[in-house]
Amino acid sequence: MQTSDALVGLECYECGDRVDPADADQRCPECGGALDPAYDYEQIDLDRETLDARPFDSQWRYRELLPFDPDTAASLDEGGTPLVEGPSLAGELGVGELYLKDDGRNPTGSTADRGLSVAVTAAREHGAGDVALASTGDGGQSAAAYAARAGLDAHAFLPSRSPFTNKAMVNVHDGDMTVVGGRIGDALDAAGEEIEAEGWHDLGWFETPYRREGVKTALFEIVEQLAWDVPDAVVVPTGSGVVAVGVHKAATELERLGLIEDAPAIYVAQAAGCAPIVDAWEDGRDEPEPVEYPDTICGGIEVPDPPAGSLVLDAVAETDGGAVAVEDPAILDSAIAVAANEGIEVGASAAAAVAGAWELSREGVFDETDSVVVLNTGAGSKSDDVLRSHLMGQGI
Ligand SMILES: [Zn+2]
Repeated sequence: MQTSDALVGLECYECGDRVDPADADQRCPECGGALDPAYDYEQIDLDRETLDARPFDSQWRYRELLPFDPDTAASLDEGGTPLVEGPSLAGELGVGELYLKDDGRNPTGSTADRGLSVAVTAAREHGAGDVALASTGDGGQSAAAYAARAGLDAHAFLPSRSPFTNKAMVNVHDGDMTVVGGRIGDALDAAGEEIEAEGWHDLGWFETPYRREGVKTALFEIVEQLAWDVPDAVVVPTGSGVVAVGVHKAATELERLGLIEDAPAIYVAQAAGCAPIVDAWEDGRDEPEPVEYPDTICGGIEVPDPPAGSLVLDAVAETDGGAVAVEDPAILDSAIAVAANEGIEVGASAAAAVAGAWELSREGVFDETDSVVVLNTGAGSKSDDVLRSHLMGQGI
């Protein structure tokens, strides 16, 4: 198995054991905890000038901080997405600058592409023939695309409520799709049984150690796009927690390498109908409790029992950030407002972060000099029906 020079092992979040990447491709062999790629930061020689000189063309330009070399990557040139200024939104929020990191412009239209590029690369390095996962939608579409790229067979388990685009594109990429009645928990159960029975390589959020490694690059890019001027706040729509954990790890690594002095405050935004992380944050708990009856139109982030809730809460606490829950109508209103006023298309689930930024502003969290980045994790056109229906409900 070929890994990058700086990768020194996979460290278990639970028991702290470090294992050789060749010996573990999923969870910790000792205790079943999630594994985290560890690097020898002393060995990494990376400065701003070196990065500035590279083309801004894909996430693999951060090769020193990724577990595999670009020439072995299953890549569709993911990453390198625009950071688009939103002056009208900045004015409404009363902040100095507001940017949308538009990850809807990834190969399959979501942030999932960053993580699945790395995770599918790992699967191929481990000699897997079949990869599988349960997903709320975007991850399934993305996994099917990257498996096709890598010459692997993909099996995606999506709950029946997943967007039509996601289901259709799994098929178009020649993936094997199982639509599971119910919600993400049902899809996770169905996927788990089949994965175990068939011995498939699991690409689930924290089953593979590698998805957040790809997500990290979104924050690397944001900081570079702002000419190394770290934003005061990054607002992240949050379901499973992979994105928030990835952004936090990226900030920690940039600090450790001396490329930035302070991490941005990380704010996680959830839909009020399924906000286990926000509830835990507000109650001062370090572990979320599963939501018994999740109910939000934002299916992409409807994850009632987030697999890395405690890591997300750490990210928020360590960066002096926060957590905010927003009702569905406000989320859909914000997606429509950004499309109408700024021309930027934001997915219905990702719009939780836009609405979350609005709410944080109302709570007085930001001041007029702050620079705020909202991560758009999914293309608006994938939720065209949900957004259009919301307009219909208003008689438009
Ligand atoms: Zn362990």
